[in-house]
Amino acid sequence: MTHENYTGIMNIPHSQPSLGQKEAEAAGRVIMSAYIAQGKEVFRFEQALAARIGVPCAVSTSSGTAALHLTLLAMGIGPGDQVIIPSYVCTSLLHAVNYTGAEAVLAEIIPETYNMSPEDVEKKINPRSKAIILPHMFGAPADTEAFLSFNIPLVEDCAQSLGGMQKGKMLGSIAHAAVFSFYANKVITTGEGGMVLSRSEDLTARIRDLRDYDNKTGYKIRYNYKMTDIQAAVGLVQLQRLDEFTTRRKNIAEQYYQYLNHARTADAGIRLPHSDPGRIYYRFPVEIGKNADALIRNMQKQGIACPRPVHCPLHRCLEQDAFPQTEKIWKNTVSLPIYPKLSDAEVRYTAEMLMKLAAFL
Ligand SMILES: *Cc1c(COP(=O)(O)O)cnc(C)c1O
Repeated sequence: MTHENYTGIMNIPHSQPSLGQKEAEAAGRVIMSAYIAQGKEVFRFEQALAARIGVPCAVSTSSGTAALHLTLLAMGIGPGDQVIIPSYVCTSLLHAVNYTGAEAVLAEIIPETYNMSPEDVEKKINPRSKAIILPHMFGAPADTEAFLSFNIPLVEDCAQSLGGMQKGKMLGSIAHAAVFSFYANKVITTGEGGMVLSRSEDLTARIRDLRDYDNKTGYKIRYNYKMTDIQAAVGLVQLQRLDEFTTRRKNIAEQYYQYLNHARTADAGIRLPHSDPGRIYYRFPVEIGKNADALIRNMQKQGIACPRPVHCPLHRCLEQDAFPQTEKIWKNTVSLPIYPKLSDAEVRYTAEMLMKLAAFL
């Protein structure tokens, strides 16, 4: 197939969930049971994810952001404390830190994986540093052990990396706690939803208490951050399909590597995502060696949505300077469509258009 004389209308979204009859039946079964709030399906989903990652304790929440917020609270973090997070990430992390009254301290990333730089984090540690949130960005495993060596509570953010591995360990099983998101565009989805996993029964018991305000004796500030059984029933089906999803994502990534490597990308200042057998191809970020604004517009004209993978880095949100690495990567990087429903023909069309429009042939 060639698109040289392509006249049809292509419309390739950046991201799409994979939901089908089985998810619809699972949701329908819960609806017909008339018990739709947090109940036994939520408990089963928690058990299933904990077993899958190999961690004993799990608490589900209404979102990944809620999971982060409660994890920080359960770690005792509040006003006067600092939490270190990368600048190159969505604002969810900044919100979660700000909800607690603590101060977010931003760190730079490393160019290989776009994950947070352990060297920069080390420079920013002081006696007020009470936690580090470490996202495995775009599904690429971060060097979790390097961050653990700082002896500060470490939260793995696995919102983009469910199913990924590092040195034989599942992502989410390495640090003191891990959070997951099941938002519509994540590796598996429940529409909205989140989970905290940890080996610490104390930590997860505190999170469980904070998640739900009802039937408690005494009063303190608690939240309504519960997942519903409708969501959890969908999540259980999605979790069974995880391998199918990650295999297809990997297959699409291999096609992109094949098409784009041929385009002598390195010579043209193009950088394809770091490949790693433990990686989940949640995103396929491509650095194009110059500001991506024009490419994003021109790809859109061809029906392909390839926005920047991070909308606005946090140092920009907070009007801070001194993040040159993050700034350069943010400006120059686009995110190609990658999700199980994307067809091989769409992958090829996207790769061909990218090569043509970024002019790196
Ligand atoms: C999506 C995401 C979150 C937030 O999850 P929500 O469920 O949308 O609240 C947090 N961290 C990262 C890295 C994410 O990609």
